[in-house]
Amino acid sequence: MTSAVRFKNVCRHFGAIRAVDGLNLEIAPGEFFALLGPSGSGKTTSLRLIAGFERPTAGHIEIFGERADAIPPYRRNVNTVFQDYALFPHLSVLENVAYGLKMKGVAKKQRLARAEELLELVQLPGYGDRSPAKLSGGQRQRVALARALVNEPKVLLLDEPLGALDLKLREQMQEELKSLQKRLAITFVFVTHDQGEALSMADRIAVFNEGKIMQVGTPEEIYRAPRSRFVADFVGSSNVLPPDLVERLTGTRAWASLRPEAVRLVSRGGHSATLVSSSFLGAQRRAVFDFDGFQITALLAADAKLPEPGKTARLAWGESDLHLMEDEPVDGPEGAA
Ligand code: ADP
Ligand code: MG
Repeated sequence: MTSAVRFKNVCRHFGAIRAVDGLNLEIAPGEFFALLGPSGSGKTTSLRLIAGFERPTAGHIEIFGERADAIPPYRRNVNTVFQDYALFPHLSVLENVAYGLKMKGVAKKQRLARAEELLELVQLPGYGDRSPAKLSGGQRQRVALARALVNEPKVLLLDEPLGALDLKLREQMQEELKSLQKRLAITFVFVTHDQGEALSMADRIAVFNEGKIMQVGTPEEIYRAPRSRFVADFVGSSNVLPPDLVERLTGTRAWASLRPEAVRLVSRGGHSATLVSSSFLGAQRRAVFDFDGFQITALLAADAKLPEPGKTARLAWGESDLHLMEDEPVDGPEGAA
């Protein structure tokens, strides 16, 4: 099947800065695909390359099988929802949404009717006459979404679109965005530095670091089987165990990740460890143990019977919960393509 978006050995260097450095990636039609990584890892530059606001310094991008270099940004069938929404303050909500159709030369009556439909889609019916300044952050976000969808793009690019919203609204918008994407069956490329957001929303995730992809996979693959220390650290607060300790535990010399929720308290057997501290999280309790000079964090039931700090407990985990990793980060599975 033709990919919706394909990066082939794409670089975008700014002088000595390698914002995007040898990217190989295929995003399937209809996928909700997240670009996840810390600030400065090249996510926005990757989106801008898809949109055509940046040009690769090496390699090329294909959009639905077509070389993108040949297509100017406005003809790419791609639209962007920006982090700061970038609504036109002097236009009404309805005019903002209809703007893309106006640029295409669609007659006024038709484009306003279509914009009205889009406002319904994003659950803002009847808001058309208002000024963007009169809306809340969440409402502006929805207007930006409606505006980006009005031209029926085949690929929608979203750059940290929920970053400015408070937690409750952000969670609500995550659900809404996801269900909207499934209904419209448009390819979404979603940039975020929030691992929880990527895990809960995306069909697949590419984890970025320093302009490179460290791993590509489904949320479960990325979470359960991180390939490198970087991914284990960045995605979820995993325990990353050093080769010395892992060799003693398993006989194999490698870095390993151990998810805090896989660590259990047992009354016999297991490994002896000293409780350092614990904190109540509501639904769970987080406990930090000293194990052979290494800190291990455990996520336990809220009513777990913990010893006093400084006293010994016994820890256990399943053999398969200790996930061995490669020492050095490597390219994603498409890296060889
Ligand atoms: P992210 O979105 O993951 O935070 P960016 O793609 O915005 O990262 O930036 C990646 C790197 O490229 C950063 O070091 C950033 O400073 C640099 N960069 C981005 N755009 C430019 C530019 N136009 N000129 C110079 N450096 C840039
Ligand atoms: Mg960015």
